[in-house]
Amino acid sequence: MSPRNVAVLGATGSIGGSTLDVIARHPGRFRASVLVAHRDTAGLAALCERFRPDLAIVADPAMEADLARRLAAAGVQCDVASGADAVTAAAAGPLCDTVVAAIVGAAGLESTLAAARAGKRLLLANKESIVMAGALLLEALRQGGGDLIPIDSEHNAIFQCLPGGRPDLDKVGVRRLILTASGGPFRGRARADLAGVTPDQACAHPKWSMGRKISVDSATLMNKGLEVIEAHHLFAAPVDAIEVVVHPQSLVHSMVDYVDGSVLAQLGNPDMRTAIACALAWPERIEAGVAPLDLAAHARLDFERPDTDTFRCLALAFAALRAGGDATAILNAANEVAVDAFLAGSLPFLGIAELVERVLEELPAEPVVDVQTLVGRDAQARRTARDVLHRAYC
Ligand code: NAD
Ligand code: MG
Repeated sequence: MSPRNVAVLGATGSIGGSTLDVIARHPGRFRASVLVAHRDTAGLAALCERFRPDLAIVADPAMEADLARRLAAAGVQCDVASGADAVTAAAAGPLCDTVVAAIVGAAGLESTLAAARAGKRLLLANKESIVMAGALLLEALRQGGGDLIPIDSEHNAIFQCLPGGRPDLDKVGVRRLILTASGGPFRGRARADLAGVTPDQACAHPKWSMGRKISVDSATLMNKGLEVIEAHHLFAAPVDAIEVVVHPQSLVHSMVDYVDGSVLAQLGNPDMRTAIACALAWPERIEAGVAPLDLAAHARLDFERPDTDTFRCLALAFAALRAGGDATAILNAANEVAVDAFLAGSLPFLGIAELVERVLEELPAEPVVDVQTLVGRDAQARRTARDVLHRAYC
């Protein structure tokens, strides 16, 4: 059997690193054939030295010469390209049959859609693309005829708890999808205790080690909100059939509640390599390097309702999903601007939800027409967010 050729988009990131770790454990089975990063040429060149891909791409064109120089110095022979169009072309191109969509933010949209349209096996980590363009991504998947296997841990858990991956929920007797949330680093705090929290405090996640954007999203609970929207699209679940429960141990990754009262859960240590290995090898199971779960050592599994008065981003995401049209794309764009501003020190933590809410008020939802209009609305929402930011905080 020849190995599966895997394009890792976002290779230098947290999901990229976990993916390459799993690939390295199964050299006969998988090859990292395309590696993509934003502008970290040193990190990308080191990965190329180790994994010897056919093609390395740096999204920032200004960094291409630097990448080529580093690869030549290291004696690595692979093609080099740059720019967002090169990333999109590679995701749909002949060098890969599997695409790990692990770019952070709306920057991952075009390549995710291209992989879906080309019928690749799509391992989706980049939740922002499905939050922005859920219906368009599902249409692209239908056109391409490939599989989408979620690697966001909650959705991967639900995928595993459903018969046959992503069936029609009504036909298989599903009552609810129950997404678990760790609650993030500020679980249990009141609003007044959150006013002065810093980016480093927000990024110190108690259970998962992740990139900074998703770490802030976890601290605000926007991450769970994005995941509710992701679950709605991936599993065609009505919004009222999706529930969020806080589970601080992060051992139950999510659950499916069936009409007969059975609740199926997927458990494991909080390590993204489980979901990635599951999706790479599905329907087979392979070693992922994850320690066996020692339930007696953990002793407790706690559950509580989310505090949406303090963590308002979760309520805003539910509201955007209910509003329909492109409201979730507006929510996502405003949140990306807000998180960048928070990480840069120009917006307080509580300002993230305020900014997102203001932008949603200023830009009422419009129907989704196509990718171009959606990208235009994303840009409009970012401009509006920067205006509001400037007026209110600068
Ligand atoms: P990260 O910040 O660690 O890595 C992001 C990667 O994307 C880097 O390789 C970076 O070079 C690349 N990138 C950024 N902008 C780019 C651009 N414009 N063009 C091309 N590449 C670009 O982030 P992460 O934690 O690995 O998260 C990646 C995605 O996976 C996010 O959408 C996140 O929500 C999702 N996700 C992450 C985790 C996790 O455990 N880290 C879990 C579930 C879902
Ligand atoms: Mg998740």
